[in-house]
Amino acid sequence: APRIGVLALQGDVREHLAALDSLGALALPVKSPRELADLDGLVIPGGESTVIDKLSRMYGVAEVLKARIADGFPVYGSCAGMIMLADTIADPTSNLKGEPQQSFGGIDMVVKRNAFGRQVDSFEVDLAIRGLESLPSQDPNRVTAPVRAAFIRAPWVESVGESVQVLAKVPAENTPLGADGLRVDRIVAVRSGNLLATSFHPEVGGERRIHELFIQMIRGDA
Ligand code: GLN
Repeated sequence: APRIGVLALQGDVREHLAALDSLGALALPVKSPRELADLDGLVIPGGESTVIDKLSRMYGVAEVLKARIADGFPVYGSCAGMIMLADTIADPTSNLKGEPQQSFGGIDMVVKRNAFGRQVDSFEVDLAIRGLESLPSQDPNRVTAPVRAAFIRAPWVESVGESVQVLAKVPAENTPLGADGLRVDRIVAVRSGNLLATSFHPEVGGERRIHELFIQMIRGDA
């Protein structure tokens, strides 16, 4: 079974451990650079990206993880985890010394934090996601069911580079007006090489296919 860590500095760690465990992976909470060493992949959970940033640098995890990501290490980031995988944070929060929050980076994209705004702070929507139709759990003769996606003060992806594959968008009618007064589809799931990121939390409602896709990526089958 693949050994998959869940970065356990802050956030909804247990839900990801349970999701991975239910798919037959060996799921391990990870707090130190040493624990990163013999993993096949890592999940960065949702939570608060400024806190995950601060603690990961404090514990020396950030430095080691950045190097591993550059080396092709598979990582899945959900919500705050997506923010941590972005090369660019559109609106970084600064600490008391005026230093902006940092990400691990790895995916050539710009993310906007808390993007869906106050009126729809948290919401759920059914999303079609590319790549799920060929998962082992999918019956090829049946229609691929949409993912019930929970967004909790979620980011969206403002733009992606050419290396990034867009896997899902929230349709315009479920998104707030942008600064330009327009309502447009917003990117909420991407893949770039061995990195996977979603704005939403698939783990909260019992959905397992995003984690299954990640395990297939680790095995080299997706
Ligand atoms: N708003 C949070 C952040 O900026 C992310 C929210 C989440 O992970 N549910 O880090």
